[in-house]
Amino acid sequence: MDVASLYRNAPGGLPFSLEILPPNRGLGLNNIHDFFNNLHEWLPAFVSVTYHQAHKIDIIDDNGQMEQIWNRKKPGTLGVCAMLKFQYGLNVIPHVICGGFSKFESEDFLVDLDYLGLKHILALRGDPNKTETQFNPHPQGYAYANELVEQIVDMNAGKYVEDVKEARPTDFQIGVAGYPEVHAEAMNLHDDVTNLKRKITSGASFVITQMFFDNTCFFQFDKMCREMDIHVPLIPGIKVITSKRQLEVLPEIFGTKLPKKLVDDVMACETDEEVCQVGIAHAVNQTKELLEYGVVGVHFFTMNNSQVFNQVLQQFQE
Ligand code: FAD
Repeated sequence: MDVASLYRNAPGGLPFSLEILPPNRGLGLNNIHDFFNNLHEWLPAFVSVTYHQAHKIDIIDDNGQMEQIWNRKKPGTLGVCAMLKFQYGLNVIPHVICGGFSKFESEDFLVDLDYLGLKHILALRGDPNKTETQFNPHPQGYAYANELVEQIVDMNAGKYVEDVKEARPTDFQIGVAGYPEVHAEAMNLHDDVTNLKRKITSGASFVITQMFFDNTCFFQFDKMCREMDIHVPLIPGIKVITSKRQLEVLPEIFGTKLPKKLVDDVMACETDEEVCQVGIAHAVNQTKELLEYGVVGVHFFTMNNSQVFNQVLQQFQE
């Protein structure tokens, strides 16, 4: 089923999907179980599960010497996907990244996803490693997400990295990332959308966008995409502001522009609870306007915070 149909068939009437993060290493799945047990009658069209690159960390070895090892803070994307699919019966979309992977390892991961019966994938490049200033691909991996899209399309045609006789084709539908406020490494919106178009031409059939807080950015992005002959669903990514600190962190990390009224309203709050209420109201208004505009659905970056997210959903019941 394509993603537009997933949204159309979403039980509960609201065409929404969710992004979930695997827990930090060692913390278990309680938080994710709580999240989905608290959703009650609301069911998302799909749940996407993030993938996190390994980073180099310092450890002291048995001889008291400093050693650097690769450590993944949030392992478990595959396990979370399997659990959500089989325990909760949800449509699940794993994020698959290029960072840290050779094309052979990407293929192994894709084989696992195929065997799990997952039909959709969000194909991403991944951010630069925390210890590096620019994205450095694995020597046998990919520098850009369009190359990963091409690999998945090849598998859909029964073409594996090494020639396999009578290979069974996979049947993945591929989503990619888009940036209404322009990706940090792109010169301008036109160049960024040109690169997005390459991913679509390679075989992607839907786009989930980076978060934004001013819908006019999305409308401009949508217009540019349509002018450049991109006609796949563009699914806006929505995040709820939950702390004053995010006013600094989001522009710093993601280059996000925050509307003055949102900033003023958040700054006027005295407690985190008040900040959440402002953030929820803003996200709800954004969502309503985007649905009126005609998007097929909205994707909420939940940060696994069911308390906040349930309040968002409640506003659509009223
Ligand atoms: P690309 O499409 O490869 O683009 C990267 C940059 O290169 C852009 O500036 C683009 O304009 C340019 N470009 C693209 N193709 C070419 C080309 N062929 N030649 C020259 N320039 C090119 N990161 C994670 O690590 N894990 C996640 O789970 C994750 N989930 C995400 C979910 C969403 C919805 C979004 C929007 C982002 C997510 N990210 C995640 C972050 C993402 O990996 C970063 O934003 C990353 O820097 C870019 O990824 P991309 O797939 O858009 O890369």
